[in-house]
Amino acid sequence: MEALRNIEGLLNLLDPTVNVLYRRTAAKALAAIAPATAVPEMASRLAAEPDRGVRQSMVRGLGRLGDDQALPVLIRALQDRDLQVCQEAALALSRFNSPAAFEALLAALTRKENREDWQIRRFAAHALGKLGDRRAVPALIASLRDGNDLVPPAAAEALGELGDQQAVTALKTVRHTMPHRRGAECATCQAIDAALKRLT
Ligand SMILES: [Zn+2]
Repeated sequence: MEALRNIEGLLNLLDPTVNVLYRRTAAKALAAIAPATAVPEMASRLAAEPDRGVRQSMVRGLGRLGDDQALPVLIRALQDRDLQVCQEAALALSRFNSPAAFEALLAALTRKENREDWQIRRFAAHALGKLGDRRAVPALIASLRDGNDLVPPAAAEALGELGDQQAVTALKTVRHTMPHRRGAECATCQAIDAALKRLT
């Protein structure tokens, strides 16, 4: 397709009147090329885009570009109705060295508005580990006691990744005092052990 050869052509294909399959292809190509000039257009189209695959690619592209112009829409994408888009948004934000990205992920780490929000908390823990700002350590320590089984392993992994010694005691305490699943398949204990290995 001729349009695939230039950025402007790709951006034109993002128009909502274009067939969704073309929109997806264009968004994927833009995410892969990540042209800096595409930021304003992708950022302005993201919220209104009805297809989740297109939104996901847009978020990925904007994350790769790391342009601060995209921050507000990426932060809003953390509230996307589709969980995969939220996951992509958390990952995208982890690439930004910006207080706004950090604060947004920190807020997502404790979000409890909907029943599915544990997944957002898990994505946020993962992203905070990648982002690498050690000020997230106290909040991640608190998440070791998250009510959903799948959040503590992500928090433990992030703590291991951040490499801050102040997490060691907390990790050990949770390892020995929390009521975990029995046997070797306790994901929390496995993640804690792996984190302690990195930290000590
Ligand atoms: Zn356990």
